[in-house]
Amino acid sequence: LGHGGAARTLSLHLAPYGVGQFLMVTRDITQIERLENTRKDFVANVSHELRTPLTVLSGFVETLQDLPGDALTGEQRRHYLDLMAQQTRNMQALVSDLLTLSSLESTPNQEGGPVPVAALVRTALAQAQALSGGRHTFDARLDETLRIRGQDTELASAIGNLLTNAVRYTPPGGSITVLWEPAPDGGAACRVRDTGIGIDPADIPRLTERFFRADRGRSRATGGTGLGLAIAKHVVMRHDATLDIRSTPGEGSVFSILFPAARVCPPAGPAAPARD
Ligand code: ADP
Repeated sequence: LGHGGAARTLSLHLAPYGVGQFLMVTRDITQIERLENTRKDFVANVSHELRTPLTVLSGFVETLQDLPGDALTGEQRRHYLDLMAQQTRNMQALVSDLLTLSSLESTPNQEGGPVPVAALVRTALAQAQALSGGRHTFDARLDETLRIRGQDTELASAIGNLLTNAVRYTPPGGSITVLWEPAPDGGAACRVRDTGIGIDPADIPRLTERFFRADRGRSRATGGTGLGLAIAKHVVMRHDATLDIRSTPGEGSVFSILFPAARVCPPAGPAAPARD
């Protein structure tokens, strides 16, 4: 059925109603059907994401079981074990991201206390630098006094995901800049800019969908779970903020978390003099 251009699903129920008459009840189940499809897609995606590393792992295990003890050199054995460890880490990351997402969806929103975002950014930056292994240059411009009301662990995970992505999707030699600054409207902005591969404009609206990857093969190879931006989007929404994504394919991207003025804490005043 068309209504305002969008297809809708109706359920029809016909019941006898008096002599020779029927009562027809119609229900619009479009929304219920949509939710059910999203749930089915999610379960199918999770199963697929777990099956791939499990297949690789069990293949290696069986191969190693069948080989006589001296068939592999120490180096070959190490190589197989490294590959197995990598698949195990991928599964651990996926399960951990699934738990984070489920806790974000099931726990009520709490406004939280003043968060010194500059300190969170510095910790996330150190992790991103470790992931980069010296292949990128980093720059940070952080307002040390700017704080917002929120949940520090949630914000750390959102900012961490943006920085990790900047490393993953920027070829070696590129640069990554992170800014934490007041916005002209009285709010605050955390921006992560990279000189990486960029994103096709058509893909931008879909990036925060669970398991959406602009380039499936490439994104998997980077070791990502496909849930990082879905988590970031949830955290951003729980802080009344918006996630702004700008990108030019081949040039780079800027991911910005924009907090409203209402979330910004007044600057901490000078410490009160101690009384005796
Ligand atoms: P993944 O684990 O695949 O990185 P995310 O949810 O973090 O999952 O990101 C979704 C997709 O968005 C990625 O697969 C990638 O295609 C794209 N993406 C995210 N960040 C960037 C970036 N900084 N530059 C280019 N593409 C990006």
